[in-house]
Amino acid sequence: MTTATTTSTPPTRFYAPTNPDCPETREAARMRREEFAFWEKHLPEPSLDIDLVLRRLQAITGKDLTEINNYISALYRLRELPKLAALQAKYFLLDFNRLIGIDKALDRLGVAPQFLYDQVDQALIDYLTPRRANQHLPTRANIVRRVREIITALDDTIAMRKGHKKRRFRSDSEFISLEVEEETRAIIDQQVREMAKELGVPLADAAVALLTGAVKPTAHVILHTYRATDVEFAPTFIEGYGTTLENLTPTVVRDESQVEESCSYKTPDVMAKFIEGRDGTCRFPGCKRPAHKCQKDHCVDFSDGGPTHPSNLFSFCQHHHNMKTDGRFYYIPHPETGDLVFLFEDGTWEITEPSGPLSPKQKHWVQSVSQNIQARRRSSRAEAQALKIELDGQIVEIYEAPQPDPDEPAPF
Ligand SMILES: [Zn+2]
Repeated sequence: MTTATTTSTPPTRFYAPTNPDCPETREAARMRREEFAFWEKHLPEPSLDIDLVLRRLQAITGKDLTEINNYISALYRLRELPKLAALQAKYFLLDFNRLIGIDKALDRLGVAPQFLYDQVDQALIDYLTPRRANQHLPTRANIVRRVREIITALDDTIAMRKGHKKRRFRSDSEFISLEVEEETRAIIDQQVREMAKELGVPLADAAVALLTGAVKPTAHVILHTYRATDVEFAPTFIEGYGTTLENLTPTVVRDESQVEESCSYKTPDVMAKFIEGRDGTCRFPGCKRPAHKCQKDHCVDFSDGGPTHPSNLFSFCQHHHNMKTDGRFYYIPHPETGDLVFLFEDGTWEITEPSGPLSPKQKHWVQSVSQNIQARRRSSRAEAQALKIELDGQIVEIYEAPQPDPDEPAPF
C-alpha cells in the first residue's frame, strides 16, 4: 500500500486575517477582496465630473458622500505606494478602514515628490511584514501612528507644522471640548490625572476642580519620554503624545538597566515606566488603550510565586484585565521579544507584539530613522561639495562622514 503525502509547507509567518488553516478567515478575505474589487472597478477617472460620479455611487451603494470620497482617495493613494498596492493585491490584508487611515495620515505630506512616497512605501512594507504565526494585524490606530512617525522622520517641517494647530474651545448643550496641539493635550491630560490621584476623585471631577479654580494646578507636570541615548539623531517618544525629532532636555534620566526585580506586589514606578515603554498599549489583541493608562498584570500570579519583574508584568486596560481575571483567556509571554501568545476560551489563539518605544520593532525603527537623517545630511553635504567644485574648481575634504552600519543592532 502506498501513502500519498503532500509536500507544501504551511507558512510560518502570517497575520491572523490570513491564517491558512481557518475557513472563516478565507470568507473574510473574500469579503475584503470583493469590496476592494468593487471600488477599483468604479474608481472614477480624474477627468470625469466628480459630482455626477459621486451621486451615482451614492445611489448604488447607499453610502454617504464623505465615505465615498474616502474610498476613492484611499485607492488613488495606493497608486503612489506601489509596493503596498502589490501586497494588497496579493493578500487583501488591509480593509478600507486601514487604507483610509493611511491615506489621511499621508495628507500631511501635502504634494510631495515621489521619492518621499517611495520611502513611506518601503517603511510601511517593513512594518506590515509579519514576524510570527497568527500575529495580530496592526490596528488602524497603530498603522496611522507609524505613518505619522515615518513622515515626521522624513520631513522635519511636518513636525513643525504639527505644533501650530489652531486651538479651539467649544461649549454646546451637551459637551465642552478643547482642541489643542498634541503636546499641550498631553500636558493637560497629565495635569488632570495627577490632580485626580492627589484628590482621590474621578478624572472629570479633577478637571472641574482645576477649571473652576477650586484647586491650584500642580506646579510641575511630569512628562515621561524615551530616547536611545547612544543612537545619533534618535527620535524622542513622549508618552501620550508620540514621536518628535526635537531635542528635549529631560530633568531626570533613567537607564533601563536600573530595572530590578521587586519583592512587593505593587509595580515600582521606574519598572512601570519600563513596561509601558515596551508595551505601548494594552496587550490584548486590537486594544488601543495607551499603556500608561493601563494596569500591570502579573502573568503568573504574585501569590503563586510570579515575580514583580517586566518579564512577568504586562499592560492591560481595566476591561481586558477583568477578562483575564475571569479566566476568559490565558497568555504566555516570550521571554526575550515580549510577544504574547493568547489562548482564548473558544480554543482559538493569536499573537501580539509589544509596540512601545522600547520594543524590538521600535528599536529597528529608531536605527532606520537615524540612518535616514544621516543619509539626508550626507546628500546635502554632497550637494554643497558639488557646488563648491563648480565655484572653485577644487575641494578640500574637511572631515570624514561616518558611515552607518546596517547590521548593528539598535543599542538601547
Ligand atoms: Zn484593553
